Amino acid sequence: MARAAMKSRRRFGGALEPLTYVRAFYDDRERQELARLDSCEVIESPMATEVSYPRAAALAHVAELLDELMPDREASDAVFRLSLAVLQQLRGPVLWMPLTYFELWMTRLMGFLPEFSECVVCGRVLDGHRAFYHALADGLMCLDDKRVASSELSPESRRIAEQMLRSRVSEFAEIEWPKAVCADLRKFLLQILERHIEKKLVTAGMLEKI
Ligand SMILES: [Zn+2]
Repeated sequence: MARAAMKSRRRFGGALEPLTYVRAFYDDRERQELARLDSCEVIESPMATEVSYPRAAALAHVAELLDELMPDREASDAVFRLSLAVLQQLRGPVLWMPLTYFELWMTRLMGFLPEFSECVVCGRVLDGHRAFYHALADGLMCLDDKRVASSELSPESRRIAEQMLRSRVSEFAEIEWPKAVCADLRKFLLQILERHIEKKLVTAGMLEKI
């Protein structure tokens, strides 16, 4: 709770805008539901660089995923560092690479990411074979076990995902990355996340239209 933050813009300035990196001073007492926010020093604001509509949608997507996936009052160093690194890559017009990286790593850090290398039904190795996924099922399936109305996850996207799981987001900064790259991977990841939070992500629809 930030007292009078709506009345006096001066007190917190832009520090309470979503995804602003701040040093916060707050008072959190036992038996009180809300902590009291005393002051915030802005370290870095995503609003410092130009906010186009696509970039606003991308930032909103990061914020929505954090809001929906992180339990209240849970401090996670890994999620914090991931978010900072991805936000650094979201300063310019490049969107799809950092968004793919963020969705992939959030899915893994939440413990929802299935094995990419084998069929979840029969256990067959999927390397070198086609792999499929379904909105209502966990994991990847081989050609024989795929359900009706499954989608395919391309070998190229599986390869990039495995690379992303071993690398920092900054290592992909120089790569040309139009929307089509890993579109199937993002769809796969969003289906997993939406299945776990049991609702549709509002920002997924916004991104789809860009
Ligand atoms: Zn199988």
